[in-house]
Amino acid sequence: MIGRFAAQRRGLIELLQDQGIRDLAILRAFDLVPRHEFLPEAVRHRAYEDAALPIGLAQTASQPSLQALYMELLRLQPHERVLEVGTGSGFQTAVLAQLVRNVHSVERLRPLAIRAREALDRLQISNVAILVGDGTIGWSRYAPYDAILVTAGSPTIPEPLVRQLRIGGRMIVPVGTMDSQKLMMVVRTNESYEADEVLACSFVPLLGRFGWTEREGSAD
Ligand code: SAH
Repeated sequence: MIGRFAAQRRGLIELLQDQGIRDLAILRAFDLVPRHEFLPEAVRHRAYEDAALPIGLAQTASQPSLQALYMELLRLQPHERVLEVGTGSGFQTAVLAQLVRNVHSVERLRPLAIRAREALDRLQISNVAILVGDGTIGWSRYAPYDAILVTAGSPTIPEPLVRQLRIGGRMIVPVGTMDSQKLMMVVRTNESYEADEVLACSFVPLLGRFGWTEREGSAD
């Protein structure tokens, strides 16, 4: 059983390399974290496909190659402190935990946060703190962050998150409509920030005070 997943995991790493991911630390981190541990039973057999997968409560675990791209764009350093908004399955959280010193992750849906915490504990990943709450207001207690990753789509760049970046800190955030967004790379400057478009993407909505409202999010 373990062997089967190990072989599949190697396949995913090769695929990430084929997709242009070159950073060895990132490839190694993906190799170290068993994605199946973070997924519901029903989709575990698909854990090492490069696909977004349903994790319940209308949420999805993001596509691994997109997560790897996030991390490559952010050029994370081992001593850094990172904020993740949208813990979801906790898989990306676990990969981040291999790359940086501290990961702080905020998830609005308590059942997902609990499941992610349990998986992290099973794998003895101890440099992660998870908060249940609205991540659009950040997590001021541990600010400033060297980097912030937002893993849900927002109508605008959430202002509180910019303020919780250190000067020179980087943030990746999908910004656009409910259905499609542009991945934005934000760099905090002295007075304000600079933002560049990276690519088109499609994430589940970021619901909260500085994202979409609950009502907008539940309208189909
Ligand atoms: N990186 C995660 C992505 C999960 S999808 C993974 O690969 O599993 C995005 C997540 O963002 C969902 O779990 C959703 O509940 C969460 N989310 C949406 N709005 C949020 C907010 N304001 N604060 C915190 N989490 C939020």
